[in-house]
Amino acid sequence: MLRRPTRTRRALAATAAALAAVTALAVTAPASAATDPAAAPTTELLTVTSPGEDPALLAQRLVESGLDVVTRDGDKVVVVGSEHTREQLDQLGVQTVHARPVPVAAPTESTAAYPLPSRLADRQYPTFYGGYRTVQGFHQFVADVAQRYPELARRVSYGDSWQRTQDRSKGNELTALCLTARPDQGCQLRPDSAKPRFLLMAQIHAREITTGETAWRFVTRLLDGYRADAEVTAVLDGTEVWVVPQVNPDGIETVQEGLGAGDVAGSSRAWQRKNRDDSNSEPPCAGPWQVSQEGIDLNRNWDSHWGGAGTSKNPCSLVYPGPKPASEPETTALAALFERLFPDQRGPADTDAAPANARGAMVTLHTYGNLVLFPWGHDKNVKTPNDAGLRSMAFRMSHFNGYNTGQPGEVLYNASGGTDDWTYDKLGIASFTYEIGPGSGDCTGFFPEYRCQDKFWELNGSALLYAAKSARSPYTTSLGPTISNVNVQRAHGPWASVGAKADDNAYGGKGVNRPAAQKVVAAEAYVGKAPWEGGVPQTLRVNGDGSTVDVGGVFDATGDTGEHRLVYVRAKDADGNWGPVTAAWLPPRSND
Ligand SMILES: [Zn+2]
Repeated sequence: MLRRPTRTRRALAATAAALAAVTALAVTAPASAATDPAAAPTTELLTVTSPGEDPALLAQRLVESGLDVVTRDGDKVVVVGSEHTREQLDQLGVQTVHARPVPVAAPTESTAAYPLPSRLADRQYPTFYGGYRTVQGFHQFVADVAQRYPELARRVSYGDSWQRTQDRSKGNELTALCLTARPDQGCQLRPDSAKPRFLLMAQIHAREITTGETAWRFVTRLLDGYRADAEVTAVLDGTEVWVVPQVNPDGIETVQEGLGAGDVAGSSRAWQRKNRDDSNSEPPCAGPWQVSQEGIDLNRNWDSHWGGAGTSKNPCSLVYPGPKPASEPETTALAALFERLFPDQRGPADTDAAPANARGAMVTLHTYGNLVLFPWGHDKNVKTPNDAGLRSMAFRMSHFNGYNTGQPGEVLYNASGGTDDWTYDKLGIASFTYEIGPGSGDCTGFFPEYRCQDKFWELNGSALLYAAKSARSPYTTSLGPTISNVNVQRAHGPWASVGAKADDNAYGGKGVNRPAAQKVVAAEAYVGKAPWEGGVPQTLRVNGDGSTVDVGGVFDATGDTGEHRLVYVRAKDADGNWGPVTAAWLPPRSND
């Protein structure tokens, strides 16, 4: 079982007091940027339809017209609206079915305790908008993690933001964390790593502030979980987890200026989505910021089907892909990092499959709409040659977070030049986008109250851990059963017993072309050494004849039980696919 870090009431109270003390550090914007919320134009979510038009094509048409499409709801499309949006929709011949105000709280002080790894419990980080850490807070966090967890973490600087390339005194360094057991023996910037790699990236779209928070919590869970949580321990022993918590820090600083002043009106800089490269828009964009802003959409800038669906040639558009592919330093630096971490495992043609045993996986975090997406993003009518593996892994992850699953055009709209299309296209690694957060309710929107993060994390922590442990062989293990509820007990003498649930039907319930489950036909336990470490399988019993069954049995627990005394369990389906292992602790013998 996976354990969320828990903290005592006393520790929480202490943190709350500490946070009150750092309120003075909260980012504030110049007074001129502040807007009286009462007088602010209302932001609303508009549900629209165009009878007879494919909703995916409608969504794409709206995006390319400069509208901010957030999600799809059956044959309808939901867009963020400001003052002029309804007019614009009328001109496009689109009917507005209903409209509701976007629920936005605009706190300027910390309202909740943010999570910290145990060795950083004495640290404080500047916040904005009720608890979200600032760009400087993240820079400090990354440095602190590397310093206080030298046996688990390395900090890597991989480039400069656009503003920093223009003026060394401005902008931001681009940084990543490598998390793994014995980083001194790994975390090298070369693709022939001993351990497989999983990379999580967040906030390529600046205003999607939930995503940096998710990355922060993922780092925290891994650090606190090592030697405390069997699954986390197994992942860090066997995998390098790379986290890029802020892909677009220049843009995030702009978001902070708006949100730090409690300003969420359509004119607010809170809506910054793109980077801050203003060299392509002359004269400056007219605004309002929510629909017209300078910069390049970094998630349209990657050199894969660049400039196709879901982009606009207008430099002020939210989906402007830049003057050419990979024109932006944030893109080229991250692409170079990917190329130094993952070997190229796929041929150049769109129809070339990555080999079944390809290694490596990535997830890029966005908000919102509760979606798990996978390539191709550029055209829903084209399946990748690894569609079975990608789709299966996407649905395996949405089993944990409950999100709607498909190619972007199948559940949202086609979008070209995105990161995950590129990482799959150029390197062949299993690549996914999460769109975190619901399309309605009190935690919807780009700026949910900080307390909403607890719910988001509850859904996504286990999904991300599944992604990390799939990095070893994403296209094969995701076809096999998911193991949960592993229970290991000592029995008489050398023996121990294990019971677990093996579920080949552990696929998310919503999405396009949900994979079919097969019967579970075999199960194994490994003691001390995982299958890839030369561990010796011990056969377990499969109870019943179905795709969701209990497996278990008695096994020999003598011999080398390894540094962490881990037991690994996996199961195979009737098509011959072994799922990923799930780890549990072997309890000590009473006389150990
Ligand atoms: Zn996004």
